[in-house]
Amino acid sequence: MLVNEMVQLGAKRSGIRELFEYGLRKKAEIGAENVFDFSIGNPSVPAPDAVQDAYKAIAARKDTVKVHGYTSATGAMSVREAVAKNLDERFHCGARAQNLFFTCGAAPALMSTMKAMRVEGAEFIILAPYFPEYPTFINAVGGKVVVVPANTTDFDLHVEDVEPYFTEHTQAIIINSPNNPSGVVYKKEALEALADLLRKKSAEFGHPIYLIADEPYRELVFDGYEAPFIPNIYENTVVCYSWSKSLSLPGERIGYVYVPDRCADSVDLFNAVAGSARALGHICAPTTSQYIVEQCCGLMPDIQAYDENRKTLYEALTGFGYTCVYPHGAFYMLIKAPFGTALEFSERAKDFNILVPPCEPFGCPGYLRLSTCVSHEMILKSLPAFKALIEAGL
Ligand code: PLP
Repeated sequence: MLVNEMVQLGAKRSGIRELFEYGLRKKAEIGAENVFDFSIGNPSVPAPDAVQDAYKAIAARKDTVKVHGYTSATGAMSVREAVAKNLDERFHCGARAQNLFFTCGAAPALMSTMKAMRVEGAEFIILAPYFPEYPTFINAVGGKVVVVPANTTDFDLHVEDVEPYFTEHTQAIIINSPNNPSGVVYKKEALEALADLLRKKSAEFGHPIYLIADEPYRELVFDGYEAPFIPNIYENTVVCYSWSKSLSLPGERIGYVYVPDRCADSVDLFNAVAGSARALGHICAPTTSQYIVEQCCGLMPDIQAYDENRKTLYEALTGFGYTCVYPHGAFYMLIKAPFGTALEFSERAKDFNILVPPCEPFGCPGYLRLSTCVSHEMILKSLPAFKALIEAGL
C-alpha cells in the first residue's frame, strides 16, 4: 500500500484548476461566450512572431539528431552564453555562462534551489500573498515553511513586517516581484532595506541567508515601473526565472537558475543546484526550447493587452464598489470579497458565471485573484455581471 503524503498531494485538486474545469463544463453547457473565466494564469498574448519564426527555423534544420538530442544537464553552452550576455547587457551584473543552470521552467528552478539550500532544520521565509506551490516545494525538500502574513494596507514589502520571522535556522527568504497574485512590484528602496536586514541577520546568526528571487513576471511591468534586478542589490541572491509568462511559453518548459559569482559559496551552491536537479530526475531542459531562447532572450513582451485589461477592470470594478489592489505588474488583480468569505463570494460569483478563485491558497484570506490574461472582449462582457453580483450580495 502506498502510504505517504504524496498520495494526498496528487489526489488533492487545486481550487484554481477545479474552478477552471468547472468553467469548461459550464462553457459546454451555456456557450463559451457566456462564461467569464478569470481563474487561470495562462498568458493570453501570443508568443512574439520572432519566437514562431525561430520555431519554424529550428523545425527546418537538418541536424535533427542535435536538435532533438540531449544537451548537457546545465544547458547547451551556446545557450548559456547567449542568455548570460543578455543579462549582463541589461543589468551589468557580470553574468557568465557558468552561472546559469537551465531548467524546465521556474517551478523546477525553485525546487532545485530550495533542495540545494536545505540543511538540517532549514527554515524558508515566504511572504503572503505567495505562489501556492512554495509550501509544497519547501515541504517536499524537508524544509520548514515560515509565513509572513500579508500587509493588507498595500500588499507591499515592509521590512519591519519581515524582521520578526528570522531565526538562527533561516536559510533563505523567497521574494516574488512582480507578484502573483497581487501584481505589486517591490521598489528598490524596500529591497535595499531587506538586503540590509539580511546582512544584519546573516552576521547575527553566523551564516549567509540567501534571497531566492522568483521572477517569471520580471518584464511584465506597467506605468513606467521597473522590477529591480535583485542580485545587484543583495549579494546572496539566486534568481529563478522562466520565459513562461514573458514570452508566453508556459508549455515549452524553459527557465534557469542564476547563481551569481558574488553569492556566498557560489561554486558549491551552483553544484548543489545541479545535484538537486539531478536527484529530482532532471536530465536537461527541452533542447528546442533552449535554442529558441538562445535566439529570443532579447525580446520584450507586448504588454499592451494586459495593461488595458487591468485598467478596464480596475476602473469598472472600483466604480461598482469593489475594493481592488491596483497592479503595477504581472497579470493578476486582487479584489477583496465585498460580502461573506472569499470562498462564499467565489461560490456566489458562479451564479453570475464569473469564475474567480479565493486567495486562501495564496495565504491571503478574504481576497480573490482575477487573472487579467484574458480577452478584452470577455472583460467588457463580464462587467454587467460583476455589477449585478455586488448588488445581489449573498
Ligand atoms: N512562480 C510564480 C510566482 C508563478 O506564478 C509561476 C507560475 O504561474 C511559477 C513560479 C512557475 O512558473 P513556470 O511555469 O515557469 O514553472
